[in-house]
Amino acid sequence: MKNFNELDLHPVMMTSLAQMNYHTPTPVQAQAIPPALDGRDILGSAQTGTGKTAAFAIPLIEKLLRNPRGTALVLTPTRELGKQIMEIMHQLLGRKSPIKTAFIIGGESMGKQYAQLKQQPRLIVGTPGRINDHLQRGSMKLHDTDFLVLDETDRMLDMGFTVQIDRILHYMPKKRQTLLFSATLPPNILKLSEKYLNNAVRVAVGSTTTPLKAIRQETMHLDGSEKYDALVNQLNARSGSIIIFVKTKYGTEKLAKKLNRENHDAEAIHGDLKQSRRERVISGLRNKKYRILVATDVVARGLDIPHIAHVINYDLPQVAEDYIHRIGRTARAGAEGASLSLVTPQDRDKWYAISVLMDPSLKGKPGAAPSKGASSKNGGRHKRRFAAGNKFRPRKNSRRKAAG
Ligand code: AMP
Repeated sequence: MKNFNELDLHPVMMTSLAQMNYHTPTPVQAQAIPPALDGRDILGSAQTGTGKTAAFAIPLIEKLLRNPRGTALVLTPTRELGKQIMEIMHQLLGRKSPIKTAFIIGGESMGKQYAQLKQQPRLIVGTPGRINDHLQRGSMKLHDTDFLVLDETDRMLDMGFTVQIDRILHYMPKKRQTLLFSATLPPNILKLSEKYLNNAVRVAVGSTTTPLKAIRQETMHLDGSEKYDALVNQLNARSGSIIIFVKTKYGTEKLAKKLNRENHDAEAIHGDLKQSRRERVISGLRNKKYRILVATDVVARGLDIPHIAHVINYDLPQVAEDYIHRIGRTARAGAEGASLSLVTPQDRDKWYAISVLMDPSLKGKPGAAPSKGASSKNGGRHKRRFAAGNKFRPRKNSRRKAAG
């Protein structure tokens, strides 16, 4: 499939796609949409940034448009991701659509959700915890819902939603269409797919571990005490919107305050903020009301703001895979982006795990990890480009140069 026109889609869908400027499907869409329209289950490994939201949203909305009794459920790990999914769904449904939707996430008032659910929505997007809540209270019914999407499944399992998902699926008909998407496909996801999917079409875009986009990845080896000054220098040297990742909730607040004192426009975001505050912070970044977002990993996945030019790992992620999700916040939809990781001697093991994840050929090579003595004084800034996914362009010989 080279063009959406080839797909005999509903006129409402065609109008929406044109308005969204979606003409050519991305690779994951080209692979997933035709079989999904044929009613097949899909097991898709694709990261955010590949167009995977529309890969499931287009067949889902097409089904709702074609079948007046069709209803669908999308499970997603976080509120932010849910919100982005909801926005795409509404864009595809078009303005003034009679099709009702409900957005059912934790941390929001139950009252508003009861009202949405009373209207018999034909599309529900939400997080597993709150959806379970409603199912148990009897305020949500899923016995007729025969289209299910599990989005960012690996993340949902990491967040401990396995039991919740299992419970939700008990409320749904056995005969249904299920689309399961995951950035990675470790054994627990494959096991889950055997349980929930039926004769699924396997869709894979690029490698499941390397970033797909044109992200320039840089590393700076330095001591912990040098991190803050190095960060400020980097913020001064770079232009465009920036996300800085730090380890703790308290750390985000502290760093944002400190940067503001030095006239850098920064906001903090983390899981303890009220939902309304989180939304304000994200929309402020989206609308360029401020330049720097200091975040914990709560926003590492899925956040889709096209103008993020840089991701800075002030603290490395606890889990190596999160490195990919973090840096994936830049270079959205084909744009170029850069990431910078500040690596201290204490980060040695974490950095090694990340390096090997990005380039398995580095396994067992100590040069992959920062050496104990490396600092900005004797090592300075190391630029490093990892082995590539399809869109990622490594410079010739850069690996040897960078690792040296
Ligand atoms: P996702 O991987 O779903 O987070 O999508 C990444 C970005 O690609 C989003 O900004 C989408 O709006 C954009 N996008 C998805 N599909 C298409 C398409 N077929 N044509 C143009 N842009 C797209």
